[in-house]
Amino acid sequence: MTKLTNPTEIARETLKQLAVRRILPSPDHYEAIYHEIAQTPDDARLHPGFKELVAAFEALPIQSPVLSRQISQIRTSISTEKWGELPEQIFRIINSQSGQTELTKTWSDLIRELILQWDLRNPSYPPSRKKDALEKVLLNFKQDSNVLNEKLSGLVNSWAETGIAGLGSVIEPTANVENTANSSTDNVDIRWQEWRDAFTQALEFGLSARLLHNPDLQTETNAIAQEAKSVDNSASMEKWLPRLRKFWLKLELENDNEQRLCDGLMGLLRLLTDNIASIVIDDDWVRGQIAVVQHIMAQPLDMRVIYDAEMGLKEVLFKQSQVKHSLVEAQTVLKTMLTSFIDRLGVMSESTDKYHDKINQYAEKIDSANDLTSIRHVMEDLLLDTRSMQLDVQRSRDDLFNARKQADEAHSRVIELEQELSSLSDKVRSDQLTGALNRRGLEEAFDVEAARAVRNSSSLAIALLDIDNFKKLNDLQGHAVGDKALVHLVQVVKDLVRPTDSVARYGGEEFIVLMPDTDLEAGVQVMQRVQRELTRRFFTHNNEKVLITFSAGVALFHAEDSRDAVIERADQAMYVAKKSGKNRVETMD
Ligand code: GH3
Ligand code: MG
Ligand code: MG
Repeated sequence: MTKLTNPTEIARETLKQLAVRRILPSPDHYEAIYHEIAQTPDDARLHPGFKELVAAFEALPIQSPVLSRQISQIRTSISTEKWGELPEQIFRIINSQSGQTELTKTWSDLIRELILQWDLRNPSYPPSRKKDALEKVLLNFKQDSNVLNEKLSGLVNSWAETGIAGLGSVIEPTANVENTANSSTDNVDIRWQEWRDAFTQALEFGLSARLLHNPDLQTETNAIAQEAKSVDNSASMEKWLPRLRKFWLKLELENDNEQRLCDGLMGLLRLLTDNIASIVIDDDWVRGQIAVVQHIMAQPLDMRVIYDAEMGLKEVLFKQSQVKHSLVEAQTVLKTMLTSFIDRLGVMSESTDKYHDKINQYAEKIDSANDLTSIRHVMEDLLLDTRSMQLDVQRSRDDLFNARKQADEAHSRVIELEQELSSLSDKVRSDQLTGALNRRGLEEAFDVEAARAVRNSSSLAIALLDIDNFKKLNDLQGHAVGDKALVHLVQVVKDLVRPTDSVARYGGEEFIVLMPDTDLEAGVQVMQRVQRELTRRFFTHNNEKVLITFSAGVALFHAEDSRDAVIERADQAMYVAKKSGKNRVETMD
């Protein structure tokens, strides 16, 4: 139906409709049909008196979503003519308005309440914050005592409310009493202040205390907390955010490191306990082993320290097993010597007993001899026996002399072997399991390559690889399969890199590849090539294919870099690769 705009036409049409619809032509019915035809909006249909009422509610100082809902309920009641609902609706509005806050108080009440709230502990309003807010109000509203009363009342109310209800209601009561142009700025200030307090407290009391083992990060945490105190608007927040994000990344790294530290430590203890039973348990040895573990426990936990200790222990174990072997050999020799010595002693004492008896017999014969011929026979026999006895003694002496010589030789061989092994272990440059360079080997290779890069102004790329989900592989398939995976990875990497590149085991399942004359882009390509190759080449366990993947970070060595600095960058890039889904290569420069 086209909309009629001319009031006369609308009035005519209204009368017509009253007749057509057979409706009683009362003023109310006339008005309703008139508005229907004129398509008067709901608002405009209100009686001017109701319009004023709604306008008055809309002008109330405390506007809130609850009030909007209440006003709209009143409109509905009016337009649907449910007059009975109106009194209660109006009563509810008045109630909630007066219940929300007391706009002003007598000065004596106000001061009493201020002192009370000042002394009460309130987590949302620490004393420093209360002091700041109070000073601000006193400073800004000192000219007008009524406004000052109103502001102070608002402040005290907000302290009282947050003291009971918590943070959620901090802002609203303050907003209620501050209707001046300054109020929104004050609110914003309070918001920032609130945020700052919560943030710095979380850093100082929550985080910093947990970083005792990492003094550098602890200092940085405290510095960040200090910096946060000067962030008081969006612009300074925007400027400060990148710094915060960087700090956050470091924290995440630290978290990850902690996990790895624990795993490393467990591995180390397992190694110790597994092996302790199979070695010769002599007191010195046990003490030595325990001393290594105690030494590690005494210093701040660090993945590298644990790896070094693990490598050290492995070498000691290897050395001990070798020495043990030769000690057993030397003992066997000594035992044989001792047995033959005892045998010989037995023979000697046997023969001396025999001779003793014979001499007694001879003495008796000499006693009873009464002619020279019989004495001469006794003498001849005696001489013969004495000579063979002398020969026996001589032979035993020689045997003993030889035995002692052999025992001495065995002893010096053990000492020699110990020295040899000790100098050998000092020279070990490669990891026993994978054949890659070990930490010592890596340090040497790095020094050589870094010096060369500086000398020739050439680029040196460093990649740090970390096998993905290696713990899971160990847990599901066993440690031996884990070991096999490490060997497999090193083999594949060695096959794909240049002969001049170095591959080193940096930690449990972390490897470093030094790539001389290689820029960042090429370094990434090499790592991706290894990743592709790993999808083709696998090893088998129980006739099943075992596929491994790794995440890598590549960084370039700069002339001023320390070894640790460039490895740290590669580590951070590797961490990003892990975070963005693993089996990836990332860079950091
Ligand atoms: P992510 O993908 O995040 O790197 O997880 P992940 O499980 O690979 O890494 P995580 O650092 O949690 O676990 C590493 C595991 O490597 C824990 C440790 O027991 C194991 N590991 C370290 N050294 C050896 C080793 O020589 N042989 C075997 N089999 N496992 C080792
Ligand atoms: Mg790892
Ligand atoms: Mg891993």
